[in-house]
Amino acid sequence: DQVSNLTVAVRIRPMNAKELACVGSADVVKVKNQDLIIRSNPLGNSSMSLDHVFQYDHIFWSCDETKSLYASQKDIFATIGKPLLNSAFRGYNACLFAYGQTGSGKSFSMMGANTCEIADIDSEEFSGLTPRFCRELFERISNLKSDTTVSVEVSYFEIYNEKIHDLLASPNVINKLPLKVREHPEWGPYVVDLSVHTVKSYNELRNWLILGNKSRATAATTMNEKSSRSHSIFSIELSLTEGLDDSDTSRRSKVSLVDLAGSERLGSSHNSDEKIRQGVSINKSLLTLGKVISALADHKKNIFVPYRDSVLTWLLKESLGGNSLTCMLATITPANSNLDETLATLRYACQARSIVNRARINENPHD
Ligand code: ADP
Ligand code: MG
Repeated sequence: DQVSNLTVAVRIRPMNAKELACVGSADVVKVKNQDLIIRSNPLGNSSMSLDHVFQYDHIFWSCDETKSLYASQKDIFATIGKPLLNSAFRGYNACLFAYGQTGSGKSFSMMGANTCEIADIDSEEFSGLTPRFCRELFERISNLKSDTTVSVEVSYFEIYNEKIHDLLASPNVINKLPLKVREHPEWGPYVVDLSVHTVKSYNELRNWLILGNKSRATAATTMNEKSSRSHSIFSIELSLTEGLDDSDTSRRSKVSLVDLAGSERLGSSHNSDEKIRQGVSINKSLLTLGKVISALADHKKNIFVPYRDSVLTWLLKESLGGNSLTCMLATITPANSNLDETLATLRYACQARSIVNRARINENPHD
């Protein structure tokens, strides 16, 4: 077994026009050596100043591309995307999820600037982790030994209000009822009746990706809040069979790339009663993800992990606590106007760092 901590990375996006226009607007994030420092007093107009210092596996500072510290989309893929791709080829499951408040750069990091445009999905500058992962997947497939049989299958769905919707279902499917989760004794939880599409090339895969992004965007405009409150999960199943006789060995791995709902409705756990009173509904899947992470981070034996309390955590069970290499990308803004949400995200990410997973190779020597 390969034992590793769940890798946790943080990305800081540039300030946007709205944040810059705020009265007293300031950048509160500093990256120094391996530390991410939040300056509570960035303007220095008081002698009392308390910095918060955080450490992660990777810190990506993406605020100013003219500086050498700048982390581009390509850099981020190279650091956290490639290792997951390597492990997928070795038969390990992998999962990467983006966590952060709405507008902090989750979708930009996972997909790109404009998620429905081929030009942006494929652009050297904007292309996000998902399309880069898929492009490189097919590049590597083309370099495999010729006696290797390869199959790549993709699926794409979203979870909104604890209901699963297939983003790639054929438009002829009249039955638009939400899909259900079931648990296979050997392979773990899965979505029943989810459409799965075999792809032979990156271009074929990209068509599905853009179709799914479009159905996500359409649903979001008809229901305003939906884009920030839904989770999307894009999965790739890779199987490789080497050799042509009975001694074939085959490996399968599943990679899930997850763009989570905005974390802002969680905020600090203390004011959730207040939020409920204000009629702000809590996102059950995101809330349960927090509970699962704190249960896993608590290294006491036999502690109960409430995977089945939400659709998201049930489906990510194997990725969070089991047979998977997992990376969490926490996205933040450097603006002081969002300081509270930024601190909440950074603390959440710190807790996730103490989870230890044990991933196993999915090898079926007599498959
Ligand atoms: P989220 O998905 O977390 O709600 P988005 O990814 O949609 O946030 O980002 C919000 C806005 O900020 C978008 O216009 C996006 O293009 C921009 N943005 C996010 N991250 C970056 C970045 N690293 N560099 C440049 N622009 C970014
Ligand atoms: Mg988004």
